[in-house]
Amino acid sequence: MWGGRTGALLRVSGLWPAGVLGRRPISCNAASLAGRNSPQCWNCGGPGGPMRGHGFFCPQCRALQPPDPTRDYFSLMDCNRAFRVDTAKLQTRYQELQRLVHPDFFSQRSQTEKDFSEKHSTLVNDAYKTLLAPLSRGLYLLKLHGLETPEGTDDEMDRQFLMEIMEINEKLAEAQSEAAIKEIESIVRAKQKELTDNVSRAFEQDDLEKAKEMLTKMRYFSNIEEKIKLKKIPL
Ligand SMILES: [Zn+2]
Repeated sequence: MWGGRTGALLRVSGLWPAGVLGRRPISCNAASLAGRNSPQCWNCGGPGGPMRGHGFFCPQCRALQPPDPTRDYFSLMDCNRAFRVDTAKLQTRYQELQRLVHPDFFSQRSQTEKDFSEKHSTLVNDAYKTLLAPLSRGLYLLKLHGLETPEGTDDEMDRQFLMEIMEINEKLAEAQSEAAIKEIESIVRAKQKELTDNVSRAFEQDDLEKAKEMLTKMRYFSNIEEKIKLKKIPL
C-alpha cells in the first residue's frame, strides 16, 4: 500500500527514475531551446544583434534578425503593459514597424531575410489588431497575467445577464427595418462602452477576476455586433 502511494507521488512529481516506466517524463527543454533567440547575428555572427537598437537588424551587417519569441505585444508595440493604450500612438508605431519589416522591402534580399520579414510582419499585424480592440486587448492582458478565458466556459454568468443577451438577440432576429437594427446597434455600443470603462477600472485596481467577468460579458455583446454586421449586408 505504502509502496503504491509513493509510486503515484513519484509519477505525479515527475521524479520516477528514468527507465522504470520505459520512458522519461516528456521534457520541454528541446522545444524551448529551439525557440530561443540566438544572441548572435545569424548572418555575420556578430554579438548581441537581435537585442540592440530596434532589435530587428544586426548593428554590424544590418541583416534582419528573427523575431524575439519572448517579446510580448505591448513591448513590441512600445506600449505600457496596461489596459489603457494611446491608440494614436499605437497606429504610429504600427506604421513605423511595417516600414521596417514589411516583405515588400525585402524582395531583393536573401531568402532567410524574406522569411523573417514575413514573420515579423504577421506578428506586427497580430499585435496591432490585438491591442487596438478593447476586448482582445483585455483578454490578452489577462493571458499575460496567467488567466485564460476560453469561450464557452461561462457557467458562472448570472442569469439576469444571459436573459438580457437573449432578449437583444431575439429583437435582432425580429428586426426588419434599418432603423430597428440601428436602435439595437446603439444599445449594444453603449453597453460595450460601459463595460470597457469597467474593465479599465478593474485593471487599474488589479482586480483581475472582475476584469475577466466584464470581458466575458463584452464577448457576448461582441457576438451580437458580428450578427448585426451580417444582418446589414443586403441579400
Ligand atoms: Zn550581422
